[in-house]
Amino acid sequence: MARRLVVIGAGMASGRMLEHLFAAPHDWSVTLFNAEPRGTYDRLMLSPVLSGEKTYAQIVTHDADWYAARGIETRFGESVTRIDRAARIVHSAKGATPYDALVIATGSAPFIIPVPGKDLPGVVTYRDLEDTEAMIAAGLAGRNAVVIGGGLLGLEAAAGMAARGASVTVVHLMGHLMERQLDPAAGALLQRDLERRGIRVHCNGATKAILGTNRVEAVLLEDGTVIPADLVCMAVGIRPETRLATDAGLEVERGITVDDRMQTADPHIFALGECTEHRGQVFGLVAPLYRQAEVLASTLLGQPASFAPIQTATRLKVTGCDLFSAGDFSGSEDIVLAAPAGPYRRIVVNEGRIAGIVMYGDTGDGGWFYDLMKARQDIAPLRDTLIFGPAFAPQEARP
Ligand SMILES: Cc1cc2nc3c(=O)[nH]c(=O)nc-3n(C[C@H](O)[C@H](O)[C@H](O)COP(=O)(O)OP(=O)(O)OC[C@H]3O[C@@H](n4cnc5c(N)ncnc54)[C@H](O)[C@@H]3O)c2cc1C
Repeated sequence: MARRLVVIGAGMASGRMLEHLFAAPHDWSVTLFNAEPRGTYDRLMLSPVLSGEKTYAQIVTHDADWYAARGIETRFGESVTRIDRAARIVHSAKGATPYDALVIATGSAPFIIPVPGKDLPGVVTYRDLEDTEAMIAAGLAGRNAVVIGGGLLGLEAAAGMAARGASVTVVHLMGHLMERQLDPAAGALLQRDLERRGIRVHCNGATKAILGTNRVEAVLLEDGTVIPADLVCMAVGIRPETRLATDAGLEVERGITVDDRMQTADPHIFALGECTEHRGQVFGLVAPLYRQAEVLASTLLGQPASFAPIQTATRLKVTGCDLFSAGDFSGSEDIVLAAPAGPYRRIVVNEGRIAGIVMYGDTGDGGWFYDLMKARQDIAPLRDTLIFGPAFAPQEARP
């Protein structure tokens, strides 16, 4: 008899995992729950949907037909509410579903800052299709939109709403934009480019309250600034969606603790994607999750596989704001190439190897630097010309 595999969450990670699983012979009979009333889509591409460059239909990766063709039972629009580990059953509003193996792939939830007015109509987050449609439905042309959060997500929301004609202000708590990926110099260039396209940026801005009677009317900052707002998008961070695991008594730190095979402390339960924590690391970009997906498929196929931390690189999907960032900036030495109007390059070196990369303006060589960083290549032979990129590397020293 087939073994029963239940998957909670039809997001980017579980879609990829099921692809790998069904590429090999196996004896799993799969049931897939999803809180969203749909199958799997490329969440990264919500930004082009918001800006009007793409439609939802163009970003679908695994729809009900894809799953049905593989005999996967889909329960879209149905949240799992509880896991009964002793009975090996998951519960939803429609009843109980038994499993032999369970995969928790519930992703993340947007963090909401607990300020007065956070629940007013017109305050949205940016995570799924509903959020995106809520912003579009607000009729953005000519309206005032405030984005709280100047990270990757917030800036994509800002650019998307601006593309639909909104007058957008970004309020960011820190001194420069995308401070986790960019240093102050690159952050300033990014701010300049966003302002050139009409997006206002308010750094060092702490939100005190969201004002309004029946719906949002303005955002009040700690310094007394009042910014008029017909719509407020909160994009201040995410937290792993771990509630089911916590309630079931699984080990949860910031995310659901998994080992190198993506198994939790319960041998019948695995976790995958942004809801996980692996060796103290949590995740917010998709590249390592795709590797997790491969590893978990192998684990379920009884094949050896192991997930190891990998370096990720960030790009912003906002036209005209070309940035590349990877690694960290805490190295012992900096090599910088800068002109007042950009482009800007900074390579951080630690013990003779690239530890971090920040590029703004001309990022074409980002992949080359990134490969050197991942390979932990000794940069001594390249050092004199390193900052100028591969075209200037001595022939004999090219990797
Ligand atoms: C607008 C936007 C832009 C992004 N851009 C980038 C980018 O440029 N580069 C990058 O690397 N990453 C980007 N990301 C992040 C990327 O989308 C995530 O890392 C990825 O989607 C995480 O995959 P996941 O499968 O873990 O979670 P998700 O894709 O979030 O899927 C989790 C699913 O689980 C469902 N679920 C939750 N709880 C339950 C429950 N109890 N029962 C049933 N179902 C449940 C949810 O409804 C959801 O559909 C972006 C994210 C957003 C929102």
